Amino acid sequence: FGPDYVRAIAPYQGGRPIAEVAREFGLDEARIVKLASNENPLGMPESAKKAIALAIADAGRYPDGNGFELKAALTAKYGVPAEWITLGNGSNDILELSAHAFVQPGQSVIYAQYSFAVYPLATQAVGGRSLVVAAKDFGHDLEAMIDAIEDDTRLIFIANPNNPTGTFIPGHEIESFLKRVPPNVVVVLDEAYTEFLAPELQYDSIAWVAQYPNLLVSRSMSKVYGLAGLRIGYGIAQPGITDLLNRIRQPFNVNSLAQAAAIAALNDTEFVKKSAELNAAGYHQLTQAFDALKLMYVPSCGNFVLVKVGDDDGAGARINLALLKQGVIVRPVGNYGLPQWLRISIGLEEENAICLAALKKALA
Ligand code: PMP
Repeated sequence: FGPDYVRAIAPYQGGRPIAEVAREFGLDEARIVKLASNENPLGMPESAKKAIALAIADAGRYPDGNGFELKAALTAKYGVPAEWITLGNGSNDILELSAHAFVQPGQSVIYAQYSFAVYPLATQAVGGRSLVVAAKDFGHDLEAMIDAIEDDTRLIFIANPNNPTGTFIPGHEIESFLKRVPPNVVVVLDEAYTEFLAPELQYDSIAWVAQYPNLLVSRSMSKVYGLAGLRIGYGIAQPGITDLLNRIRQPFNVNSLAQAAAIAALNDTEFVKKSAELNAAGYHQLTQAFDALKLMYVPSCGNFVLVKVGDDDGAGARINLALLKQGVIVRPVGNYGLPQWLRISIGLEEENAICLAALKKALA
């Protein structure tokens, strides 16, 4: 069935579920450490749990399809009009909506090698043509991405920080990039991990939205806000973009519990601060151990680290299996073209320690 370009899609491979790994390897679920999906190791903030408990009373009704209250919270936070906001079922939804809204079959989409797996998926799902630009030092080569633009290019995906490599593009480089992109090409600036950036790296992409009608900033509430299971993200862009995304999204794409939790989490600055601090400490813990083990890793600005576990192309899969047998789930990245590497999400201190001990054993 279906068009060739749909049949050609390689399905998304997520982190393996705890229950499945426990069953396959005969392990106790409670003892499994999952550092595979860049989740917040603190889980959901208490404020969000309380908001959900209250919202359950009304969950027999449809959610507010336009997310009036959540948009009001975002408006207050970012100082942008509600008309500039699109809510998504996770920020994945925003990425996919962008491809659907702006790309016709045969038209081209640009993204970097080793960037987020959903970019090729979203492109292929609409019959778009991928122009994959070779990575530079595991990150985006913005100069080459400008050179790659063709007459029929309609969309460019940039992940900053990037997943799975954790690389970061300084704000001024993105701004000069935006100046050079033709106005009929939409730039999706995917900032799923932006809240983890050290203060000296932070930049104000929302301010650029007023300047660039072709810019869509995408944010996730799955990472620092700890709401991955609820599926909520949002896009900020001028109405020329937002209006189209809103026409094609599902009418009730964000459920009512997620909306309630998101409002609470957005205002929970304590939780965000604590999460970012825990992440910084965990990054230090993991990378110190990698140094001691003489393992190469890519310096990361996200809540995960890409680490090289061997010199042969079987290394990632082999070490991954050895970790699974010890009840540690991380992410192999062979599907990203990185078969010698593993991506390890930063967990709680004790989770990181368990993972590191298992890694040491696996490498021995
Ligand atoms: N963008 C990037 C770069 C990501 O790594 C992820 C999560 N893996 C997402 C977007 C999507 O996250 P979510 O749909 O949970 O908001």
